[in-house]
Amino acid sequence: VIRPLLGCIADDFTGATDAANNLAHAGMRVTQTIGVLPWGDENLSGIDAVVVSLKSRTVPAAEAISMSLEACRWLRARGVQQIYFKVCSTFDSTVRGNIGPVIEALMDELACNFCVITPAFPQAARTVYQGYLFVGSLLLSESGMKDHPLTPMTDANLVRALQAQLDPARGRRVGLLSSADVAAGSRAICARLDVLQRDGFSLVIADATMDDDLKHLGRALKGAPIVAGGSGLIAALPQNWDVTLATKRAPLPAASGFKLIISGSCSSTTNAQVAHFLSGGGTAYRLLPEEMFHTQSVVVQRVVEWASAQWQISPHTPVLLYSTADVSSVRETQAQFGIDRAGEIIENTLAAVGRALVLKGAGQLIVAGGETSGRCVQELGVQSLRIGPQIAPGVPWCYATPFSTGGRSIHLALKSGNFGSEGFFTEAFELLDRGHGNGY
Ligand code: ADP
Repeated sequence: VIRPLLGCIADDFTGATDAANNLAHAGMRVTQTIGVLPWGDENLSGIDAVVVSLKSRTVPAAEAISMSLEACRWLRARGVQQIYFKVCSTFDSTVRGNIGPVIEALMDELACNFCVITPAFPQAARTVYQGYLFVGSLLLSESGMKDHPLTPMTDANLVRALQAQLDPARGRRVGLLSSADVAAGSRAICARLDVLQRDGFSLVIADATMDDDLKHLGRALKGAPIVAGGSGLIAALPQNWDVTLATKRAPLPAASGFKLIISGSCSSTTNAQVAHFLSGGGTAYRLLPEEMFHTQSVVVQRVVEWASAQWQISPHTPVLLYSTADVSSVRETQAQFGIDRAGEIIENTLAAVGRALVLKGAGQLIVAGGETSGRCVQELGVQSLRIGPQIAPGVPWCYATPFSTGGRSIHLALKSGNFGSEGFFTEAFELLDRGHGNGY
């Protein structure tokens, strides 16, 4: 049995797909699983990397730790040589975690007291300079992320933000690998990391403002038991193994079934995508939070009937169901129902709608929002995803079997809130319509 080389633990489902997509792009044969699976090793034969998708970003830290450790043990038992903890490229977390607590737990598990982290992904306009994270030209704390419903990011200084999440009792310190060292190449990076380690730093935020920076970092991190970061740095790790480049991804079967979009993301990007879809005359239904709270089952039934009726009239029309709203309405909803409860009820409603509509024949499903995707995929009973053609950077079409709906496989795209152009929804279906879902 040829064992997987790299094991990735992703703290949300869209992030996992993003990482798997980039690894496939870098030539690895990748399997993405939903949590850990009771699989024998033979199912992973010939696979270079396994990405385990968790929904651990916003759960209590203790829960995130136990899920991540379980995934780490499962991956190590399958022989992986390196563990990557995949977080969001906007470092989505709260002051309580979960990035810091999970990294500390993984370091303890792997008996390793040094970990380099960077969410930078210059191609996607996420850069880190002097430890400060920029989203495009804006500091993280001035970007749309300051208003995120669950993980508002108010400090762009990642050294400080990560330090604040660590357990003071363990005394670990966060240092900075600055851009001058990174740009000087992998040898300079290794030398600097040695110094930082000697100076007593256990975690290091690495600057990266250009793609080459990630390449240098990737090379320097060869053999590190654990590395953490976004979907940029992970794509720089395959160069450390002699992977035979898979020039073409294995084709996905042709798409069939009704076209459905479920959007629970409230990011500015998703708001723009929903507005664009509506202004183009798209068929859409807005789910109002107050209705979901008071009469959840009634809302689910009404929306399902409405969507089915649209498809009866016009079977090829994509139908959008969304709770996506702007910052001020999100705040109002949260003030009324509580942040966690609001998120949970909306996610549950959207997931119930998604499952019911897959049962009714939806076969091409886009879910917008990381947490929303996680909940939907769980509800569908998906165990693993095959990565297909890329719709936009970070978002591939996938192919999956939802076991809770009878086992007919569907095409599935999990879109992180921040990803995709304004016309994303339409572009995604056009890609499948053109038959590009079949190949890469
Ligand atoms: P993103 O990828 O943009 O972060 P997520 O799905 O991860 O999107 O997070 C969005 C969160 O906001 C979810 O928990 C979702 O249930 C919640 N949400 C969705 N619509 C609303 C709304 N109208 N009001 C308040 N919260 C909402």
